[in-house]
Amino acid sequence: MGCDSKVESTDGFVNWQDIVALTQSHCKMRDPSRVERIINEFVQGGPERMQLVSDFDYTITKQRTEDGGPVPSSFGIFNACKSLPVSFKEESNKLYHKYRPIEIDPHMPPEEKVQYMIEWWTKSGKLTSGFPFDQAEIDQIAGKYKNALRDRTHELFDDLNRLQIPVLVLSAGLGNSVISLLGQANLMYPNVKVVSNFLQYRDGLLDGFQQPMIHTFNKNEAVLDGSEYYDLVHNRDHIIVMGDSIGDADMAAGVPASSHIMKIGFLFDHVEANMEKYMNTFDIVLVDDQTMDVPRALLALIERQHKLRLAGNGVASATLLHT
Ligand SMILES: [Mg+2]
Repeated sequence: MGCDSKVESTDGFVNWQDIVALTQSHCKMRDPSRVERIINEFVQGGPERMQLVSDFDYTITKQRTEDGGPVPSSFGIFNACKSLPVSFKEESNKLYHKYRPIEIDPHMPPEEKVQYMIEWWTKSGKLTSGFPFDQAEIDQIAGKYKNALRDRTHELFDDLNRLQIPVLVLSAGLGNSVISLLGQANLMYPNVKVVSNFLQYRDGLLDGFQQPMIHTFNKNEAVLDGSEYYDLVHNRDHIIVMGDSIGDADMAAGVPASSHIMKIGFLFDHVEANMEKYMNTFDIVLVDDQTMDVPRALLALIERQHKLRLAGNGVASATLLHT
């Protein structure tokens, strides 16, 4: 937010109250002492132990824009493409109205939902078959929304790239749209990996989605098992997880139990009704925060301590911190 805070400590220990971004009234924490403990573990461990796992839709993109204009989801970008057959749009609408209420049903247990989600994604894949489609259509629409990213997303990705912290964008949406939008926003740095659903072609026609299917209830690091990315990050046990849906909090499932995970939840819709659940699920709940200021504040602390260590001085002294 452009304000400076003075973090003074003789032993490098960070008090959460000294991190301005965490003291804002819309920043809620169930257990500030737990947040503080994890932050200090992150700071001591340094960038080489960090990784970031983020949802895409309404986590990297905004939940609310300044002009009030809607931001489409990654599947929404695809569905807006002009060349799609009318029957596709009708049928995928029907699927949405059948399965979306199940996806967000507060009463059905997740184990039960999984079957429905697999059905939904499988039927969508079958629908997304048998007609030609040009990626340029997605690019054209995605390009219109490259400024609908959270404020300071570019700075956040610059920070992560500079610190060589791997970024996993994990999306149960459409990867073609995710990569197109991030690419046009110049955010596809070498440390950024997108795991999502990608269009598959056969004989020049669409042929559903590539495997494995990523749906709302399996979008976690377990789907990476055996992949190159898993090898790259499996010993990075300090993890920031960011999402806007309750299920996003589990994105780091599959990493070793000894990992330290900081879960940041962006809450916008039905704030009052959802507050308790978000507070019980995420370590930090940000209410209508359309910025990347909180994750950036954490990275700034990690980078500051890292620099001090590189300079041969492991002990933090009074330092100006930009949050
Ligand atoms: Mg989302």
